[in-house]
Amino acid sequence: MELNLDTGRLWVFLAGFGVMLLLESLVPARPAAGTRARRLVFHGLVAALNTTIVRIVAYVPLLLWAVHVEEEGYGLARWLGLVGWAEIIISIIVLDAFDYAWHRANHRWRLLWRFHKAHHADTAMDVTTALRFHPFELLVSSAVKAVWLVVWGPTVVSWFLFQALVSLCAQFHHANVDLPDPVERWLGRVLVTPRFHAAHHRVERHLGNANFSTILPIWDRLFGSYSAPPPSRQQAHSLEVHYGLPEGREVAFRAGAWLVEPFSARNLDVDRR
Ligand SMILES: [Zn+2]
Repeated sequence: MELNLDTGRLWVFLAGFGVMLLLESLVPARPAAGTRARRLVFHGLVAALNTTIVRIVAYVPLLLWAVHVEEEGYGLARWLGLVGWAEIIISIIVLDAFDYAWHRANHRWRLLWRFHKAHHADTAMDVTTALRFHPFELLVSSAVKAVWLVVWGPTVVSWFLFQALVSLCAQFHHANVDLPDPVERWLGRVLVTPRFHAAHHRVERHLGNANFSTILPIWDRLFGSYSAPPPSRQQAHSLEVHYGLPEGREVAFRAGAWLVEPFSARNLDVDRR
């Protein structure tokens, strides 16, 4: 069963990626300025490296751990007696809340920010940004997820559905897609949208210190980190928004520099989270 879920997740990822690439060609929110191919290649290579490293080091142990947790009946979900669809829906909501807290920690704690910064160093934003994570961040978050698993105790099915949803939502809210205002407004009440997440990537980090949610935007509203997206396309277009980080923009697409940067001494002085 785990193998089918794994293949299913891959197909969901590829389908989502393809749909977003198509929408970005048809209705872009910002001009791509001829860098799409380069971004796709660079971030594609990052994804290939990450998939290899995470598969070798963390993927199988985490999967076995999820199976073990379910077999042994560990965690709050089991303790509360949740089963069937109720377990799936509540598990996704709870895990999304954990994800929100983890994302905030990545901005708050200096050591974690060093690595999460690699994601924010992207000088633009499109579906390929969703692939841009430092491998070390992914390894640390795998260890953290092992704790989520034993604390909440989702079934293996819920765990896979949650991860598939996270990857779909990340593709969607990073995408350079200009959604009609009513879609942004209505969808934005229940789901993190591209306009909502764009604020999080602003180069002015005091403005970007908001909108941390991954699937449900409710967490930012509940925990005081909500920044309202521009109410109309017109306003969104008229804003001159720059993405990324103020420093190191010239090496944002140099693989070697990007990989070793979190380990450099220069980071000790950086305090822009
Ligand atoms: Zn972030």
